[in-house]
Amino acid sequence: MTEPNRYPIPARRRLPPDWQPAEWAVIQPVAEELAGRPLGDRAALEGWLLDRSELDSLVGGRSSRLHVAAARDTADRAAEGAHLDYQTVVLPEYRKVSDRLDRKYLECPHRAELDPAFWTVYQRDAELAVELFREENVELEAEDERLATEYGRITGALTVDFGGAERTLPEMAPFYEDLDRGVREAAWRAVAGRRLREREQLEALFEQMVGLRGRIAANAGYSDYRDFKHRELGRFDYTPADCQALHAHVERHVLPFVRRLTARRQELLGIAPLRPWDFSVDPEGKPPFRPFEDAAGQVRVAATLMERVDPGFAADLRWMEAEDLLDLETRPSKRQGGFMDTFEDVRWPFIFSNSSPTHGGVETLVHEGGHSVHGLLSRGLEPVDYRSAPIEFCEVASMGMEMMALEHLDAVYPPQEARRAALDSLEDAAASLAWICTVDAFQHWIYTHAGHSAAQRADAWVDLRERFGAPTDWTGLEEQRRHAWQGQLHVFEVPFYYVEYAIAQIGAFQLWSNYRRDPAGAVARFREGLALGGSQPLPRLFEAAGLRFDPRGDGLGELVAELEAAWLARLADGASA
Ligand SMILES: [Zn+2]
Repeated sequence: MTEPNRYPIPARRRLPPDWQPAEWAVIQPVAEELAGRPLGDRAALEGWLLDRSELDSLVGGRSSRLHVAAARDTADRAAEGAHLDYQTVVLPEYRKVSDRLDRKYLECPHRAELDPAFWTVYQRDAELAVELFREENVELEAEDERLATEYGRITGALTVDFGGAERTLPEMAPFYEDLDRGVREAAWRAVAGRRLREREQLEALFEQMVGLRGRIAANAGYSDYRDFKHRELGRFDYTPADCQALHAHVERHVLPFVRRLTARRQELLGIAPLRPWDFSVDPEGKPPFRPFEDAAGQVRVAATLMERVDPGFAADLRWMEAEDLLDLETRPSKRQGGFMDTFEDVRWPFIFSNSSPTHGGVETLVHEGGHSVHGLLSRGLEPVDYRSAPIEFCEVASMGMEMMALEHLDAVYPPQEARRAALDSLEDAAASLAWICTVDAFQHWIYTHAGHSAAQRADAWVDLRERFGAPTDWTGLEEQRRHAWQGQLHVFEVPFYYVEYAIAQIGAFQLWSNYRRDPAGAVARFREGLALGGSQPLPRLFEAAGLRFDPRGDGLGELVAELEAAWLARLADGASA
């Protein structure tokens, strides 16, 4: 049973219960009142901050709902139109007035009377927003958003005819695990070939985006978009040079393990060198495992894992299921990828994914479940800005949840499947660091090489795949390889939002290490860190969760050694079974 009032909707503070920020004409008078209101003393300022937070929550909630509706059905032109209208008409106006509100706050003399320990992050973010705001960029950013939606529409519509049925690309994932190498190859070629047919269109779209982004950076006084975006993403606690140090640390500490894994795979499969379709099949030759059949089964498995970590976490997921806050299965005309978004008007999380019935589908739900727990633990915070943490820490909540759940696979799977899933997950955690660095280094290259050609961009991608990838035979697949980056939606939709995953993964490894030694203590600290939302700077959030903020990956050597030891121990499970 789930409690109906587990997370009651907070009462509105000032706006009437039926007030909806449907269009700018409705929002404008409320925003103008805030912009014009006298702030005569500290109490007036505090009330004003809360009123602003309420308006932000309602506008943000509506934006999230429209985004989710458009993602759930990419063929629904009305939903796409409503989402785009909000993104390109309403929110640009809202950003302009928000800039005035930021300035009003920063100019208010009573700001000095507020508790600095509490308001430091808010003030820092307002100063950053004012520093970077350019009215002429509002339109350019809306255009970038429109192009990103176009990317989602193009790639979300891709299907292949395979095995006598029309299938979405996520639906093809199980075929990559097929023991029959011919099936794997045919599946891989079908998907890569389908993507390749869009390459010109995606290339042209990306050219437009790069051009727009260069102008946005220049308008804000930056010579390149990388340095601008780094600042705009609020990366107060690390620099582009730190990201490059991280790339080097991953190369040094993670790639040797990844290459040992590839060597083992080659040996077990009796194939050398491997082809691109040889990386998902079980190297020990066991048939694919289907841990669930439908979304309800997926929730059952994920909730059982989360229950072992903390019963409250599982209760959150079951409550979301009961409240219809999950859309998990893949289907045609559904956007790719997976995410958690919060409907800030009611402070409820929503999970969107395209799951295939594999262990990966379970991991995705546990991951998004971690984000949801984070949102629910911090939902009491005001202002709304404090209810979401920087992504570097948000992903500790989700990846950390995945890593802790790894310790309980035996509770949900038969022993051999638990062993295999653990090996896969540990391998993926290592390999994903190499992939993240590939994608991050690629974006560093793109935005610091102005005027490069499409061919040079593809060359740069191939070089990075050589640097961070496992040895692979690409003979005859050169075009597919050169355009593979087009399948990485972040490069299009959320530039530079990727290295955060590596920084968070390093935190998640630390959490896992703590959890293996002291489960109760690690979860208690985890909860403490999550409950802070985004109210503190990154190093403080990590510290509260019992972790060290390590954007350069200085501690990776030790963590990867523990990861490899755990992997070897799981491997030995098989020898004794
Ligand atoms: Zn995530």
